[in-house]
Amino acid sequence: MLQHCLDTDGLETGGIVVGNYSQSYEVALIWDVSGPPRDSKSGATWFHRGVQGLQVWLHRLWTKNHYYLGEWHFHPGGRPIPSDTDLRQIKEISDSADYRCPEPVLIIVGGSPTGSWELAVYVSPRNCSLMELRETKGALNTQESRQQKVGR
Ligand SMILES: [Zn+2]
Repeated sequence: MLQHCLDTDGLETGGIVVGNYSQSYEVALIWDVSGPPRDSKSGATWFHRGVQGLQVWLHRLWTKNHYYLGEWHFHPGGRPIPSDTDLRQIKEISDSADYRCPEPVLIIVGGSPTGSWELAVYVSPRNCSLMELRETKGALNTQESRQQKVGR
């Protein structure tokens, strides 16, 4: 994500987040992100993610049991706090039958990729407000993440 942020010269950028879920569906495991599809459009404070090439990539990932998990984008020089547009867009995705993703993740990178940057992660469950996910002490010691480590 930081590399994609570096490539934009102060404009917003973003893409989709892919991966899979733990057996209990309580943990989203992010394996990769896309850069901005070629038909994306952006300015200093806005980003419209395009779709070109994503369907082909998602089909390929599907054979590895990796799926669309959500969206990410960059607020150059700003805080990783969702704008009203961000809130509306992620809600549309969780409500959309097309995405088949009732709990999309939203990752926002803020600041400068070469200097001080921060990252915030949100989840937007269908019929709920957006929630920020925060790192908690001991989160990696749950039984599930131990199983994941062993499974790799
Ligand atoms: Zn935003």
